[in-house]
Amino acid sequence: MKSSESTRPFEIERLRSDFPLIATSSDCYFDNAATTQKPSDVLNAMDSYYRHSNANVHRAAHKLSRLATESFEAARQRVQQFLNAGHTDEIIWTRGTTEGINLVAHSFGQQAIGAGDEILISVLEHHANIVPWQLLAQRSGAVLRVIPINNDGDLDQAAYAEMLNPRTKLVAICHVSNALGTVNPVAEMIQQAHSVGAKILIDGAQAVSHFQIDVQALDCDFYLFSGHKLYGPTGIGVLYGKQQLLQMMPPWQAGGEMIEQVSFESTTFLPPPFRFEAGTPNIAAAIGLAAAIRYLNRFDLSQRQAHEQGLLDHAIMRLSQLPRLRIIGHPQHRTGLLPFVIDGIHSFDLGTLLDQHGIALRTGHHCAMPLHRQLGLEGTVRASFGLYNRIDEIDRLADTLSELLTQHPINSHKAPPLTSASTPIPQHQEASLLQQLLRLEHWAARYALLMKMAQAQASDSALRQDQHILHGCSSKVWLDYRYHGDDNSLHYQIDSDTRIIKGLGLLLLELFNGKNPQQIIDLALDELFLKLGLVQHLSTSRSNGLEAIVKEIKQIATMHQ
Ligand code: PMP
Repeated sequence: MKSSESTRPFEIERLRSDFPLIATSSDCYFDNAATTQKPSDVLNAMDSYYRHSNANVHRAAHKLSRLATESFEAARQRVQQFLNAGHTDEIIWTRGTTEGINLVAHSFGQQAIGAGDEILISVLEHHANIVPWQLLAQRSGAVLRVIPINNDGDLDQAAYAEMLNPRTKLVAICHVSNALGTVNPVAEMIQQAHSVGAKILIDGAQAVSHFQIDVQALDCDFYLFSGHKLYGPTGIGVLYGKQQLLQMMPPWQAGGEMIEQVSFESTTFLPPPFRFEAGTPNIAAAIGLAAAIRYLNRFDLSQRQAHEQGLLDHAIMRLSQLPRLRIIGHPQHRTGLLPFVIDGIHSFDLGTLLDQHGIALRTGHHCAMPLHRQLGLEGTVRASFGLYNRIDEIDRLADTLSELLTQHPINSHKAPPLTSASTPIPQHQEASLLQQLLRLEHWAARYALLMKMAQAQASDSALRQDQHILHGCSSKVWLDYRYHGDDNSLHYQIDSDTRIIKGLGLLLLELFNGKNPQQIIDLALDELFLKLGLVQHLSTSRSNGLEAIVKEIKQIATMHQ
């Protein structure tokens, strides 16, 4: 298919115009590791399927169903060629990488892994390649072992070689780390796994958009990816499995589409891939994914790669010149993304500040909590690049960061800690924080005020103790209180390592402190939060954090009712 289709030179402006969301936005989109934008080819292919050939696949005798089945199976063939798999039967549709890993953990796990067997994963893994194995180990009595990393963020290959042994039944590692961008030497690691008789699964979620994958040359047993990280739609993913393995594996989900004969006494199952595809599949998304691959095939891979490498090199060059900015990890081979932290600005705050400058990137632990714990970090800011990103966008990121660094000097807060007893917000102050916020017309100005108030507020080390940590917030929040029996009033203290949550905490203190328990319970904030724009503008994790604080405040009030 690839050779007969016309190729295109890699011209960035023309390419950008293929992506409606990129072409019509002045923002920089650097969250490609989470999901990529979609070219019109993908949107049109899905639209056309629904308009002209929508029907259920494989079953009916009518023309529409034949058309749908043809497109759906042609999409499978397209993926087979994309991965250079030997047979279309080796390509199983899933909802995404996560579902594919769960499929292997259930089906292969049930058949091939028992008590005392060992499963090897690595510190670099996404939760999707940790938790299914943890659950399998709990079900089967197998042992989960973790390949460590070195200081640069590369897998420790000597440790890997030592950990492999005849009890190792499965190695499950990422091709590219979604948190550090480390490219693992998977070809060598596959050979080593096979040398002890282990099977090996490669999580290719972050690799397929950057490399040409050849599963036969790699000789991996399983390879997985998600369509939405390859410029295709959400809701579709691929599990490649070697034919002889898939044939031995039992079904994991049951229903229509995967059976041969059903009676009330017993059922026989279709061979792979259908055995693993119970129920009506996401037909439109499979067709959309095939369109994404066809689109990518139009460009010369080496030109695409050179462009992406140029973006990464430029980002490393510009960002490493910024004071207080630390790039995380220096792996031997990195692709697609750059994680960093800035001394004195919490990564959540940095993400929100950059968002206000029209720069979209991701902050936090990137679904790799064990890795971040090992790195001693709460999280990072991750800029991840797609083929439509431009060098000048990276300059904009670097310039904006540089500006933010001057606006947010380290240790700039000098004011004493705010506690209800020691430093309540003075009643005679020209206006309360709430009044000031309500006077401001735009969210950006309100946000800036909250950040400024938080910055002026020193941290209280007595409050920042583990026993005061409030759970249920994605950033760290400390909450304590005092009850004054003489006038039946409650006085809270709130602090957070995230500036915006700290600022919002100040607002909550103003609203709740000094009130009696019943007044606190009765105080409804939904309308006010809506009016202030908190609901519309805060990310879900931050509004969940705010909600958790309010819930705790009210729970304390209930205790004192
Ligand atoms: N593995 C890696 C390396 C990933 O980056 C991701 C997505 N962030 C996943 C697995 C899970 O992919 P999905 O959510 O599409 O199932």
